[in-house]
Amino acid sequence: VSASLQAPRGTFDVLPQDAAARRHVESTARRLLEGAGYERIETPAFEATELFARGVGESTDIVQKEMYTFQDGASRSLTLRPEGTAPVCRAYLEHGMHKLPQPVKLWYLSSFFRYERAQAGRYRQFWQVGVEAIGSADPAVDAEVIVLLHMLLAELEVRDVRLRLASLGTPASRAAYREELKAYLHTHAEQLSPEVRERIDLNPLRAFDADHPGTREVMAAAPRLLDHLDAEDLDHFAAVRAMLDAAGVAYEVDSALVRGLDYYTRTLFEFTSDALGAQSGVGGGGRYDGLIEQLGGAPTPGVGWAAGIERMLLAADARPHPAIPVDLFVARDGDGAAVAAFALAHRARGAQLNVQMELAGRSLKGQLKQADRARARYVAVVGEAGTVLKDMQIGEQEDVGTDADAVVARVLRGRGPGGL
Ligand code: ATP
Ligand code: MG
Repeated sequence: VSASLQAPRGTFDVLPQDAAARRHVESTARRLLEGAGYERIETPAFEATELFARGVGESTDIVQKEMYTFQDGASRSLTLRPEGTAPVCRAYLEHGMHKLPQPVKLWYLSSFFRYERAQAGRYRQFWQVGVEAIGSADPAVDAEVIVLLHMLLAELEVRDVRLRLASLGTPASRAAYREELKAYLHTHAEQLSPEVRERIDLNPLRAFDADHPGTREVMAAAPRLLDHLDAEDLDHFAAVRAMLDAAGVAYEVDSALVRGLDYYTRTLFEFTSDALGAQSGVGGGGRYDGLIEQLGGAPTPGVGWAAGIERMLLAADARPHPAIPVDLFVARDGDGAAVAAFALAHRARGAQLNVQMELAGRSLKGQLKQADRARARYVAVVGEAGTVLKDMQIGEQEDVGTDADAVVARVLRGRGPGGL
């Protein structure tokens, strides 16, 4: 393919050989999350740009430089979703989900889009599985979502997982802290990276995320938000930790874990894997008690997380996943049998059998080889005089006449223990 027609930079094809591993992620997530009462939600791949500007935050990297924004034919500004929380909160509002029993527990598995520097584990279209539990401020919800992500990573055998945990307090307790942090950063401005320096007033908390050596040194001695929480925030944080302890989930309280958004509140967490290189985050989230209000709803608490599918797969040992079993391969002995073979395959599929058939005009020998490659349990060789059924497991064969239903019945019976 000419370079201009290749998949765009930072995107990838999910090829058949990758499908089984991803199906395993999805089925594990579904079993775990639906078992805990989370219901599937899918929102559109694009939304009004305004939703992300308000719901992710103007000062974030995502909104400042990572969004795919375009105008549609009616000059609306639309954006390919860079994350799932704001769209799910929009759907909660739009569909009046506050009338349902709270919290409303939702999960999704979708692809997201961010214009970032493409590298291993960092793509421009990537997939996330995520949950949002909206409508309860109970610390048990924070603990539940964290434990569910912990279980998902364990079941997927993601290696060397670590959990970091912090509390951001409430906007009120954070406001005082922000001023103190800004003052501190201004006194050390000359040691900071230009990027952090320019954003001291806009988003001072982000300085904790910087890789720049000078900035890191300054931040090591910076005042910490965790030391500025009020009594209620501390109680909430202690309750979450007590439940994680009760569940045997290990974590590290990390006072440098921050996110500089006004409507993020209290619990904040991130799972990393030491098996990944620089892109070590596998999943994270937190409480966002101010977000729904920010989107125009009544004050409504919420908490959730998102985990990257590609990063989970990268950090897990590649394991072979069983191929879908083929019950029957329908071969044809001569072109004159093509229609009868087709009819038999159709009948067998109607009986819930997994069926493949000859589609490429191979010789009979070639067809048997193909059936073998597909690991078919049975091969029906349809000839003009009748059908021969071969049991590929025990190597026996049998004349089964011309009636398709009889052949199907024979396979259904033989598929159980014992064979033909
Ligand atoms: P990072 O620090 O790696 O940029 P982030 O804080 O932007 O991550 P979130 O927005 O919290 O990530 O998204 C949750 C998860 O989604 C991440 O932990 C990661 O596994 C995955 N993820 C985020 N951005 C990408 C991307 N560009 N490509 C692949 N996976 C991603
Ligand atoms: Mg990012």
